Amino acid sequence: MTRIYNFSAGPSMFPESVLREAAAEIMDYKGSGMSVMEMSHRSKTYDEIIKNTRSLFRRVMGIPDDYEVLFLQGGATLQFAMVPANLLTGSGKADYVLTGHFSTNAYKEALLFEGKEINIAGSTKEEGFTRIPQQNELTFTPDADYVHICENNSVYGSKWKYVPDTGGVPLVADMSSCILSESIDVSRYGIIYASAQKNIAPAGLTIVIIRKDLLTDPLPGTPTTLNYKKMAEYNSMYNTPPCWPIYIAMLMLEHIEKEGGIESMEKRNIEKAKLFYDYLDSTDFYKAPIAPENRSLMNVVFRTVNEELDAKFVNESIAYGMTNLKGHRSVGGMRASIYNSMPKAGVEHLVEFMKEFERENG
Ligand SMILES: *Cc1c(COP(=O)(O)O)cnc(C)c1O
Repeated sequence: MTRIYNFSAGPSMFPESVLREAAAEIMDYKGSGMSVMEMSHRSKTYDEIIKNTRSLFRRVMGIPDDYEVLFLQGGATLQFAMVPANLLTGSGKADYVLTGHFSTNAYKEALLFEGKEINIAGSTKEEGFTRIPQQNELTFTPDADYVHICENNSVYGSKWKYVPDTGGVPLVADMSSCILSESIDVSRYGIIYASAQKNIAPAGLTIVIIRKDLLTDPLPGTPTTLNYKKMAEYNSMYNTPPCWPIYIAMLMLEHIEKEGGIESMEKRNIEKAKLFYDYLDSTDFYKAPIAPENRSLMNVVFRTVNEELDAKFVNESIAYGMTNLKGHRSVGGMRASIYNSMPKAGVEHLVEFMKEFERENG
């Protein structure tokens, strides 16, 4: 068996201990005589799994009691539609801050809702999304139903380092690529949502953390499975939930607790990113386009001096035991996603390779 350092933006690496635990329980989960993937979601055993996963989320992220934790499907992309469907029920206005690929997709999805006013409250598109706007560059609509941001821009490699002041309007944040990577104050947000496949569990599970006063009736015509209030009333069990990913999320959260919680993840993530960015800053051979004060801890975007060498870099990295270092098709260059489960040794290995590549091609 050989494991490779997988720098994929998602689905991404798991800790070996979590994979081993899942493997050990694959035929017989705790004496039930079956795998979790064969188990009724209405069984007592499964009920314990989903309840435990929910309380682990609460504990690990410090989620206050006035927030609901929902286990949904459809990925962060479905949240781009579910947020407007459930929240555009007051003034019918919403503000979006455009900081990259996914925030733009979220904005476009909101535009599909007819008769609503969807505003751009700020954007760094003109600068190639190389930074996050500052508070004084944002123009919020005072009576908007919500403000939407993408907390960590997985494609461009930037991250919000402050929580924008929206003047009391609920803040909705896509945290798909940074959830569980550093501690946050949940109470500053109205809704936090995330696809699971970056830092939590296999693809198929979507986490929604929603302040309870936002659990109101959605726009007329909204399907039941897209209705936050209904899904909350049914404890995310209106229909069959993504049972297996929820179980893996439980193992992952137990692992995070064992490792010292989010604070310890954050500390390690800062160390890993520092190692990487320090090297990038020390050489002219590689360029990191993101403004230093907005650099993501999770997705490091960089390039060499030209596209030909970028392609060579990606090719040669495979023989060095690494994969998925090619940048997103819309950005080019390289991207190394170094989520919670990427060990520090993986980043050290990559930096070693980068130094060698520079020596040979610089
Ligand atoms: C990966 C990602 C998405 C898309 O997630 P899907 O599960 O493919 O819908 C959305 N937003 C961010 C920030 C992401 O990193």
